[in-house]
Amino acid sequence: MGNTIFSKIIDKEIKADIVFESDKVLAFRDINPQAPVHIIIIPKEEIPRINNFEMTKHSEVLCEMIDAANKLAREMKIDDGFRLVINSGDKGGQTVYHLHIHLLGGRQMNWPPG
Ligand code: AMP
Repeated sequence: MGNTIFSKIIDKEIKADIVFESDKVLAFRDINPQAPVHIIIIPKEEIPRINNFEMTKHSEVLCEMIDAANKLAREMKIDDGFRLVINSGDKGGQTVYHLHIHLLGGRQMNWPPG
C-alpha cells in the first residue's frame, strides 16, 4: 500500500518514534525536529495532500487527527501554546505526499513563518 515513507512507517517497515496510534491515525516524532516538540500526525488511509480532502469521506479521520493533536499537546505539556501546520504542494513546503499535520511546540513561535 502507498508509496511514501509514511506508508512504510504505517506498515512498520521503517521504524519511527510512535507517540499515538489508533485504528485510523498514527503520530510519531519528526526525524528533523524544528521545535522541542515536533510530532507528525497522519491518517493511516492514504490521502496525498489537503487538496484531496473530501468532506463525505475524510471528515472523521481529520477530526481524529485534530483530537490526537490536542491530546498530545496536553500530554507533552505544550497546550498553553503550540502550532498545527499542514503544508500543501511544493510551494507550500510539502515534501512527503501523505497528508500530515505538524504539531510544534516547546518554544516561542513566530509569525509570519518563512
Ligand atoms: P512536509 O515538508 O510538510 O511534507 O513534512 C514532512 C516532514 O516529515 C518533515 O518535517 C520531515 O522531517 C519528516 N520526516 C521525513 N521522513 C521522516 C521519517 N522517516 N520519520 C519521521 N519524520 C520524517
